[in-house]
Amino acid sequence: MIDMVSIIEKKKTGHALSEEEIRGFVQGVTDGSIPDYQTSALLMAICFQGMDRQETFTLTDAMLHSGQTMDLSEIKGIKVDKHSTGGVGDKTTLIVAPIAAACGVPIAKMSGRGLGFTGGTIDKLESIPGFRVQLSPEEFLQTVETAGMSVVGQTQDVAPADKKLYALRDVTATVNNISLISSSIMSKKLASGSDAIVLDVKCGQGSFNKTQKAAEDLGRLMVDIGTDAGKKVVAVVTDMDQPLGNAVGNSLEVMEAIDTLKGKGPADMTELALTLSGYMIYCGQKAASPAEGRSKAEEALSSGKALEVFRKFVTMQGGDASCADDFGIFKQPLHKAELKAAESGYIAGIQADSIGLASQHLGAGRRTKEDSIDLSAGILLKKKVGDPVAAGETLAILYSDSEEKLANGLKEAGSAYTYAAEAPERPVLIKEIIE
Ligand code: URA
Repeated sequence: MIDMVSIIEKKKTGHALSEEEIRGFVQGVTDGSIPDYQTSALLMAICFQGMDRQETFTLTDAMLHSGQTMDLSEIKGIKVDKHSTGGVGDKTTLIVAPIAAACGVPIAKMSGRGLGFTGGTIDKLESIPGFRVQLSPEEFLQTVETAGMSVVGQTQDVAPADKKLYALRDVTATVNNISLISSSIMSKKLASGSDAIVLDVKCGQGSFNKTQKAAEDLGRLMVDIGTDAGKKVVAVVTDMDQPLGNAVGNSLEVMEAIDTLKGKGPADMTELALTLSGYMIYCGQKAASPAEGRSKAEEALSSGKALEVFRKFVTMQGGDASCADDFGIFKQPLHKAELKAAESGYIAGIQADSIGLASQHLGAGRRTKEDSIDLSAGILLKKKVGDPVAAGETLAILYSDSEEKLANGLKEAGSAYTYAAEAPERPVLIKEIIE
């Protein structure tokens, strides 16, 4: 049994914890023998004093082995996973997974639900009528074998120590520490069994990485952790100052993903999808370079092969694949309202976190894990940063089942916009690639 008081004292005074201490801590968190107040005190000490690389690697490894690890060896080929640190309008998985699968890279992916102002892939998929996010292990493997990809909800058994630690971090203001974030993300990714991982590390107002430097440091550390564990890992640092694409909200994002798979998606969404899937195809050894991966990704879009994979995957998971042809099958929102521009000139900024919050007010997001959500609620942006605008012109259309929620959403969304008299520079979407 470890001595938590001396471990907390040791970290509080700035010393590195030993492997035995870190493993004992994670064991105690997992089996419930360490009370929350001691765990919280250690988390806070880590936030103030940090952890070195060795401590971070050990913490990741201990969390990864705190539960079940997935065995994907039955699936032939190099399995590639993709992870985003979370953003607003981020429907990338729904596009890159079918593209990579269409190029022969098997995708066996576990995803999460949305919390706060960021969305989650599992909620988005559930907006497709009939879609099942819980499959038996046999169904999961069979879907990957047949459709080339599967996306299911994260099971309780993967990295249970992270689940407990994350819940405590959420309510003790200890989320934002590079060692805690990287070990949390990488323990789940490494436990999920893929051979390679492409990380989309967001930076900007809609991300917990407010600066590019913070996102780059996090990306580099996660690449190092993955490499140390014997996986190929690439981190792509991307903009999350304004929302990604035009759609924010669950079914709206699925529709935009389908449009992008048809080659009709917004420019930023398409660019990010091609960059990430290019790296996934390269990491899956179906291309000799990221550039060749990207041109294969372009071909998968233009030939319609990626859309075909999407249809097959949706059908195999019980969903109605006619959603790819008829958006009328999605649940329709009861009310809508237009947000109008307050000024003439150019859009200088659309603060992603405010749009995320507005979408949450509309009913698309949860405040607590227990909240139910309205899958048809959300926002369609009609202008992006750098676009010219006239006062009174429509900036966005908001959807909700409740008029009261619509009013709250309009107020919050209106606060997201800033204007400029001169055309501002368009934001750079792909900021850095760390291999
Ligand atoms: N996402 C995670 O899974 N963990 C963190 O700590 C932060 C974001």
